[in-house]
Amino acid sequence: LKEKKEEKKVVAVAPQIITATEVKVNLSIPDVAEKVAKETNADGVGLFRIEHMILGLKKHPMKYIKDGEIDAYIEELYKGMKKVVKAFYPKPVWIRTLDAPTDEFRSMEGGEEEPIESNPMLGFRGIRRDLKEEMHFRAEMRAIKRLIDEGYTNVGIMLPLVTRVEEVKRAKEIAKEEGIPLDKIDFGIMVETPASALIIEDIIKECGITFVSFGTNDLTQYTLAVDRNNEHVAYLYDEKHPAVLKLIEHVIKVCKNYGVKTSICGQAGSDPKFAEILVRMGIDSISANPDAVQKVREVVARIEKKLILEKIRNL
Ligand code: PEP
Ligand code: MG
Repeated sequence: LKEKKEEKKVVAVAPQIITATEVKVNLSIPDVAEKVAKETNADGVGLFRIEHMILGLKKHPMKYIKDGEIDAYIEELYKGMKKVVKAFYPKPVWIRTLDAPTDEFRSMEGGEEEPIESNPMLGFRGIRRDLKEEMHFRAEMRAIKRLIDEGYTNVGIMLPLVTRVEEVKRAKEIAKEEGIPLDKIDFGIMVETPASALIIEDIIKECGITFVSFGTNDLTQYTLAVDRNNEHVAYLYDEKHPAVLKLIEHVIKVCKNYGVKTSICGQAGSDPKFAEILVRMGIDSISANPDAVQKVREVVARIEKKLILEKIRNL
């Protein structure tokens, strides 16, 4: 919620600083896309969360499908997504497929059928849900296909909460079945579980992805066994914990070997100190909240300059 409020804030028009590491923006409200694109001049959208847009529909995605109204659902997705890909065209917009924990969608029409889980964060969400409730995933693919057919090849597909090679393979298969030209667009995963970080080489080799993006909000909670929403353990929630940093460093190294782009879209990307760590590790892009883009860009430029000077001094 905090991030969403920040999206609505007026941000200063950014004088462009050129950086080698791209600085992108996170978005969840399609209606502010144009304003955010202009005011931040970000290098693209590193995370477009579609949950906010879907919650705004009031009716649960699975209810649309049960009611035989999949086309109406696709139309809504298409309209919202188009606002974002159009506002940023030709810069890349990575659309994350639905990542709805059961507790968050319960208040929607049809949401009463959401399973009751004792720990929704370890439950039915992310890619595991997208593949079980395949029709809503297919609806997203159909909306994205329409955008590509209109020429918006700046769209990318990003899978949340990946833990297994098979999940990525199956998602790719469905995307193909729905006519997505995977050779024309970005297709990648969020690295937000220790499992995905540790098997990243297998995922790259067996599935062929073009990018990864670190979801440090979840990666931190799952690595440290600290519920990100539990105030009693908030003091233990530390994105800079060596275990989290080691996982990130490992993934960046492997991705570099295979030419896979690396990015971050978790909250840590908006923290200038964290941005410095990532630039030093060689990350390709950082996606920050709209109000943090300019600050992150300045930090990135400063660190890059420092790195070049260090290199020259060591010649
Ligand atoms: C993350 O986990 O870092 C992330 C960006 O996803 P979300 O916060 O939506 O779970
Ligand atoms: Mg996440």
